[in-house]
Amino acid sequence: MKSELQFLAELSLIDIKLDELQEDCGDLPNKIKSLERKYNEAVAKVNETQQILSDIKKFKVDSKLTLQALKEKEEKLAAKQFNVKNNKEFDAYTKEIDFTRSEFVRLTDELRMAGVKEENLTNMIESQNNDSAEAKTELDSVQKELDEVASDQNEELLKLKSIRKKIITNISHDTNTEYTRIRTLHHDAVMPVRKNSCSGCYSTIPAQKNVELRNNLDSIFYCENCGRIIYTDELVIDKEILDLIKY
Ligand SMILES: [Zn+2]
Repeated sequence: MKSELQFLAELSLIDIKLDELQEDCGDLPNKIKSLERKYNEAVAKVNETQQILSDIKKFKVDSKLTLQALKEKEEKLAAKQFNVKNNKEFDAYTKEIDFTRSEFVRLTDELRMAGVKEENLTNMIESQNNDSAEAKTELDSVQKELDEVASDQNEELLKLKSIRKKIITNISHDTNTEYTRIRTLHHDAVMPVRKNSCSGCYSTIPAQKNVELRNNLDSIFYCENCGRIIYTDELVIDKEILDLIKY
């Protein structure tokens, strides 16, 4: 029957290995997040420009209809002006015709400016589309890189995690809480004593404590210097686990 300390030592070795595997992925996950942000921003810019362009197109269609209507109105007014009965009526038509003409000129100007704006935006959207496509390519390539690393690790990860799950059931809740607390300070929370020293911080373990460690293989002792859980190297670690972590 294995002692809790044996399970703890094995748990620690497995967690160290899991940390190493995690590090192999490096900052790829963070890189992906930042590339995703870049890509989303590029797409948002394209959409924004597209919206403005479609508003301009609608304005152009509407304005052309309005110009047509203004022209027809002016012709009708001119025809009526021909048949006026007095000067007052004539002046009234003149005023209305002038107003219609100035509206026509104003709208023609706006339409011309809209045409220039449309051309600029069309060029802009082309470069924005290129930026967005570039960002997508970059994102896909880093995602592929991460997928490859993850798939290489997959089998190993599954095995380690399944063994870890079994080990955990043999460790009390309190011990596990304590282990997790030490892990926040030292990723290698449980370390063997080698040559009378804690192999986590290399400080010397007093001779008396060394004897206690050897005589109480099922008790938990701490390094007084670093607070790691320590065990004598006489403690037997499962060969399957040693093989798996290539210890
Ligand atoms: Zn120590």
